[in-house]
Amino acid sequence: FVRFENVQKSYDGEILVVKDLNLDIPRGEFLTMLGPSGSGKTTSLMMLAGFEPATHGEIYLNGESINSVPPNKRGIGMVFQNYALFPHMSVAENLAFPLKVRKMGRAEIEERVQRALDMVELPEMGGRRPAQLSGGQQQRVAVARALVFDPALILMDEPLGALDKQLREQMQYEIKHIHENLGVTVVYVTHDQSEALTMSDRIAVFEDGVIQQLSTPDELYERPENSFVAQFIGENN
Ligand code: ATP
Repeated sequence: FVRFENVQKSYDGEILVVKDLNLDIPRGEFLTMLGPSGSGKTTSLMMLAGFEPATHGEIYLNGESINSVPPNKRGIGMVFQNYALFPHMSVAENLAFPLKVRKMGRAEIEERVQRALDMVELPEMGGRRPAQLSGGQQQRVAVARALVFDPALILMDEPLGALDKQLREQMQYEIKHIHENLGVTVVYVTHDQSEALTMSDRIAVFEDGVIQQLSTPDELYERPENSFVAQFIGENN
């Protein structure tokens, strides 16, 4: 469903921050890119989102090169750590806004907004402004905003990084629940080992722009393939 083929990226024409990335992600998978800061996870996600061009290689979505599909036709939802909701709009207006831009009809917009709010368990919060919500609720609205498009693929970059531990664990469970309910493909970026181990179908462990291991959480934990992976997975666990 998603394919990275010999993908390389350098920002300054010199150092490769992503080196020959090859990765196949089947439809419906929850794939986590895990690794320390600066290992190239966000850059890989940005290339998949179409925000950064690859220096070399090709990325495919559903068999088509990502560059041949206009951004609003790609069916990709995105959730980032600084979720930047519009403060002057209500929650419902925040969700409706991107659909209005796409000239969707009013009835369909309302239905989609309500369905998305139901999915993140905020059915009654559409009338509030972002500032009237807790941090966790705001992050759920950010997830809902990605869901209103009915995306086939959701990209998440450290979406829970700003939340405290208890809320983070609750949101991990909720995101996993949404993934399973919708059967949507998720590519998730984190540097948090336990988050990756809890949520993922498979984990790609990044170090210096290279995938050091690609396997299920169980395999990763029980059979790390090299000392980098063993040490990184062992930290904070
Ligand atoms: P983090 O978790 O800290 O975001 P990461 O694994 O996601 O780390 P990237 O953000 O992909 O790593 O960064 C990989 C390398 O690319 C880093 O050395 C970073 O400094 C560099 N880099 C990232 N974005 C840019 C940019 N826009 N211009 C130049 N260099 C960049």
